[in-house]
Amino acid sequence: MSQNDASSRPNIKGGCLCGAVTYRVTSTFEKLFLCSCDQCRHITGSAFASNLFVDVQGFEWHGGSENIMRYQVPGRDISKSFCRVCGAGVPWISGNGTKMIVPAGSLSEQIEVAERIRIFASEQPDWAADLTRVPAHATFPKPSGI
Ligand SMILES: [Zn+2]
Ligand SMILES: [Zn+2]
Repeated sequence: MSQNDASSRPNIKGGCLCGAVTYRVTSTFEKLFLCSCDQCRHITGSAFASNLFVDVQGFEWHGGSENIMRYQVPGRDISKSFCRVCGAGVPWISGNGTKMIVPAGSLSEQIEVAERIRIFASEQPDWAADLTRVPAHATFPKPSGI
């Protein structure tokens, strides 16, 4: 690979909450899946999972991969990989071994993604509907003064 090729490739860093597990991505993300299925809600403890897909060739562990634990849902092709120190979700390899599935929230920097797709929207809980209509504050809301 020439110097030009190396410098034109992305170098996106990510990791877990405590910093024990770190990784980097050197290829572009094509799709972001926001999944509200029952399993993803339980895996994340949130309204939906935010997963990016990237070719395995464009992904490398930077440090601490020995700290990764994996829970496999019995009888299903569903699993959760997480840091055994802090419990934060970290990337895992797809069932056919060709893609890394990267939880978008584990990235340490902004990315560009060509396409965002919501899936299993029928399983989204009512409390997560119409998020654009929920009041948004840049940080904590200001005290009301009451
Ligand atoms: Zn951690
Ligand atoms: Zn899901």
